[in-house]
Amino acid sequence: MMQDIVMTGDRPTGPMHVGHYFGALKKRFEMQDDCRCFFMVADYQALSTHADRSSEIEANVIGMVRDYLAAGFDPEKAVCFLQSQVPQLTELTVILSNLVTLSRLLRNPTTKQEMADLNRQSSFAFVGYPVSQAADILMMRPRYVPVGPDQRPHIELAREIAQRFNNQFGELFPIPEGVYGEQFGGTDGGGKMSTSLGNAINLCDDPETIERKVDAMQTDPARVRRNDPGTPERCPVHGFHKGIGTDSLNQIEDGCRSATFGCVECKRKLTTGFDALIEPIGERRSRYTDEDVRDILQHGGAIARITAQRTLEAVKDAIGFNYAILQ
Ligand code: ATP
Ligand code: MG
Repeated sequence: MMQDIVMTGDRPTGPMHVGHYFGALKKRFEMQDDCRCFFMVADYQALSTHADRSSEIEANVIGMVRDYLAAGFDPEKAVCFLQSQVPQLTELTVILSNLVTLSRLLRNPTTKQEMADLNRQSSFAFVGYPVSQAADILMMRPRYVPVGPDQRPHIELAREIAQRFNNQFGELFPIPEGVYGEQFGGTDGGGKMSTSLGNAINLCDDPETIERKVDAMQTDPARVRRNDPGTPERCPVHGFHKGIGTDSLNQIEDGCRSATFGCVECKRKLTTGFDALIEPIGERRSRYTDEDVRDILQHGGAIARITAQRTLEAVKDAIGFNYAILQ
């Protein structure tokens, strides 16, 4: 029986955090057993915000693949590769760029938000990265794309581009389905945990760092004194308990509402919860070396290039670019 194909990836912009873990990684690594999975490290996409720091990207790539391994990626089951090692992706990006208008790209709410966060003029590559992402996705002709909820507009665009290509040039791309994780908030109480926003708890943080970050988190602003009853729904710390699946959450909520459970204890419990999640990840991370990462990326790159070349040939056939004169 043919396995369903899964394709997804992340930008190597820094260490992976618990937002990545719950929003994207957990789900995707669960799919390794039943599906043919491709996990891409999007180094060209990282360049779209880090062009002035491009020499830092290699270290991030290595760290990211080790984070993958630590969080459950199994190189015996799934393929991991670097975007820049598969030049066919860049070719497909050029071709698919013709199927989307500039105004369509500028309407994308995720890109809009990121452009505002960037705080400087956006490059051509930045505005167009969802097209490059659509090429990355469609190249592997996946059924499923497991990602965080902020990726919804990008998946929508990839689906539109696939549909448009199929209508214009003949059925070639299956229309991929997004599989969405939950949005995980930041330690500053913000809506999204993000490396770029500096509000993340990283999968490689040590216990002291975790404790410091949890201590600095805001709690329910209306609960000033220990005896004030709290409102869990308004408390960022409570959001984290929910996010990581702390058990007996009902008791914590009741304790907060009746002021029998204090914010300090609540934070201590959260620190313990993070430690329990991150400690075994750190242990697995330490088992892998840079050589392991190199072998995985070399092997994965070779497999990805074969799959990509097959799709690119079919695309060129469809658009009439396998010129008869050159055969
Ligand atoms: P940055 O690197 O600037 O922090 P980012 O982490 O969102 O941005 P990526 O590294 O490419 O960008 O994200 C990788 C995947 O992790 C995407 O599927 C994204 O949706 C998901 N993700 C990232 N942050 C979160 C979060 N806070 N909650 C849920 N999912 C997230
Ligand atoms: Mg990132």
